[in-house]
Amino acid sequence: MRDETKLVHSGYTTDPTTHAVATPIYQTVSYEFDNAQHGADLFNLAVPGNIYTRIMNPTNDVLEKRCADLEGGVGALALSSGSAAVTYSIINIAEAGTNIVTTPQLYGGTYTLFKHMFPKQGIEVRFAEGDGGADIQKEIDGKTRAVFCETIGNPAGNIVDVEALATVAHKNGVPLIVDNTVATPILIKPIDYGADIIAHSLTKYMGGHGNSLGGVLVDGGNFPWADYADKYPMLTTPEPSYHGVVYTDALGPAAYIGRVRTVPLRNTGSALSPFNAFLILQGIETLALRMERHCNNAVAVAQYLQQHAKIESVSYGGLPDDPYHALAQKYCGGKPASLLTFEIDGGFERAVKFYDSLELFKRLVNIGDAKSLACHPASTTHRQLSEEEQTKAGVTPGMIRLCVGIEHLDDIIEDLEQALGKA
Ligand SMILES: *Cc1c(COP(=O)(O)O)cnc(C)c1O
Repeated sequence: MRDETKLVHSGYTTDPTTHAVATPIYQTVSYEFDNAQHGADLFNLAVPGNIYTRIMNPTNDVLEKRCADLEGGVGALALSSGSAAVTYSIINIAEAGTNIVTTPQLYGGTYTLFKHMFPKQGIEVRFAEGDGGADIQKEIDGKTRAVFCETIGNPAGNIVDVEALATVAHKNGVPLIVDNTVATPILIKPIDYGADIIAHSLTKYMGGHGNSLGGVLVDGGNFPWADYADKYPMLTTPEPSYHGVVYTDALGPAAYIGRVRTVPLRNTGSALSPFNAFLILQGIETLALRMERHCNNAVAVAQYLQQHAKIESVSYGGLPDDPYHALAQKYCGGKPASLLTFEIDGGFERAVKFYDSLELFKRLVNIGDAKSLACHPASTTHRQLSEEEQTKAGVTPGMIRLCVGIEHLDDIIEDLEQALGKA
């Protein structure tokens, strides 16, 4: 089936007991065993079934199947946030003494995790100088366990050539892990371009209504872990915490995702609430419709801002003269979601005046809500940085980031127009 149909149906068939059509919320922690033998069989993974909601839940299961189907993967695991998904994506295969290589422009939370937390656990994170394949190749050595990137970066809107990075990663015998939050599988399906593992914050466009935190990992099932057994002992040798299972033998192409569930999730517990899974499933049903409107509104807003006398520059891959336009065309039909930044002529003071004058746009730090959102990084997210550090992070005093919502375009433009007038 096509994406629009998968968004509505994948992973759920009418509940056989109640005939419920909407996915039921299984708000339960445990599941009763028929008898001691049944319990033992469940723990041995000899029969399918549920044990405890930290590890599996029927509502979350629908969400997992839907995400795997949308991305074209062999399995998925729902988690409590996008940050948990990114964390688990790495700790499932990298341990102390190894390293990962990442593109430099990342979501702020991921940057902090990579820069300040993983090194304390002994996992070195090497930030490449740029997004290109050659930049990545320079950082890879025998201790590298993965290459990491965001398909479309948050907040910079930089678009990564996933195909080129997958080629470099595979040439070096390591997987490419991709954060596909901003693009969503509606705009880009990274597995088609060679990516191996996909992470998402479901909090953003996927859920789409700014009401639930959530994350997911999807396993493409294509990376040959067993061919690099010495690099990935966690997948290819007996797992002591799970009665000696060898994941590549027991689960074949689903080895990676099976281990994330039974080791990182089971032992550290960033489980998704089934209530959040339900809300996110409701949001996902309209993802294709929303992305179409988000993108069309964003292109129109970018064009409007570009011709405005008070605007110095606009950064959006959907504009023909943008440095990322060619990649935007290759990967998402020239319309890379609805995240854009622009520079107001007049610096900090005028940017704040504009920001404070917005009436429809919400002043906050989030993306992917149906509502139009605006952020002034210099006074909020990057406030603690010196002006020099801000420049390094690509933040200027007069810069505004918009995440254009799905309201009527005329109302969005009118709000920008009146706020620019006051500025
Ligand atoms: C928001 C975001 C995350 C973190 O997701 P949470 O659900 O907020 O934990 C990770 N990556 C990207 C690209 C994001 O935008």
